[in-house]
Amino acid sequence: ISGKQNTGGSRILVFVRLRPMTKKEKEGGSRSCVRILNRRDVYLTELATEHDYLRLKRVRGRHFTFDASFPDSTTQKEVYSTTTAELVEAVLRGRNGSVFCYGATGAGKTYTMLGTVENPGVMVLAIKDLFNKIKQRSFDGNHVVHLSYLEVYNETVKDLLSPGRPLVLREDKQGIMAAGLTQYRAYSTDEVMALLQLGNQNRTTEPTRANETSSRSHAILQVVVEYRVKDASNNVVNRVGKLSLIDLAGSERALATDQRTLRALEGANINKSLLALSSCINALVEGKKHIPYRNSKLTQLLKDSLGGPCNTVMIANISPSNLSFGETQNTLHWADRAKEI
Ligand code: ADP
Ligand code: MG
Repeated sequence: ISGKQNTGGSRILVFVRLRPMTKKEKEGGSRSCVRILNRRDVYLTELATEHDYLRLKRVRGRHFTFDASFPDSTTQKEVYSTTTAELVEAVLRGRNGSVFCYGATGAGKTYTMLGTVENPGVMVLAIKDLFNKIKQRSFDGNHVVHLSYLEVYNETVKDLLSPGRPLVLREDKQGIMAAGLTQYRAYSTDEVMALLQLGNQNRTTEPTRANETSSRSHAILQVVVEYRVKDASNNVVNRVGKLSLIDLAGSERALATDQRTLRALEGANINKSLLALSSCINALVEGKKHIPYRNSKLTQLLKDSLGGPCNTVMIANISPSNLSFGETQNTLHWADRAKEI
């Protein structure tokens, strides 16, 4: 993977992660319709449905290939080191980076991003790695790390570290920012872990399912690393890099890889930010001059982390179950398209 991330413009690296079958899926008689070979190739097979399952007829199959594809045995650390470690390195050199987890509800986005206390995910491992790297460099200058954690839900922006009234987006010379958002100065990994777990509990839940994060909620962790050092002539040099780690809303109802379908979906009550993200990615794929960042809160907030001189990583999360075949197929199509940027 090294070397593919160019230094000038943008290219999206696209990864796929298959999660293990859940207990519930197994008990419900799910069969696996996804196979990953050589850490790159994804084979999706539509198994026969109830009507002809005795014949186990293979109806349709498709093959995709990505920068890397992770089988269900892949550890959190492997996912981190393949997808995100280089971005952390680049952030220390002042280059912005972003990692998106994309996929249907239940496909493993939050597990990949946040993880559990026993198996921390990309957000936690990135910060741990960042602090380790800073420690190794502490002899040459001064690093300051600030964290913010916010949610976009229904086109309102909420501070997950200090929930209260919705935040307003403002544009200043540094770009678009959420006014009043908590910028937490972080010193160690342990405090961050606790902070993120707490922040996640502040995510919006559906009234009917009080313990489950709403499938329409996007969570964005931004880590800003500021580096100050005095050069030979005693001038202070300031370098800033920003890493954005994004647990996107469930993609099940907002998938579209062409403008016509997107426009049709816009009328319906569909996640505006996710549609806008799709539109921006389509425009980037097509090499358009105008990228419609202004269409949603999510794309405004991530303007400097998509398409500009920055590193972008997509992790498409998929379930192995034949019952999720349609969603998996859509996710893989979308990811395949994002690869073309
Ligand atoms: P999403 O955020 O996409 O809706 P989750 O991350 O909440 O999905 O995952 C759904 C369920 O599957 C959770 O119970 C989660 O712990 C489990 N899960 C997801 N990915 C993995 C994985 N790679 N290994 C083990 N369990 C996983
Ligand atoms: Mg989730």
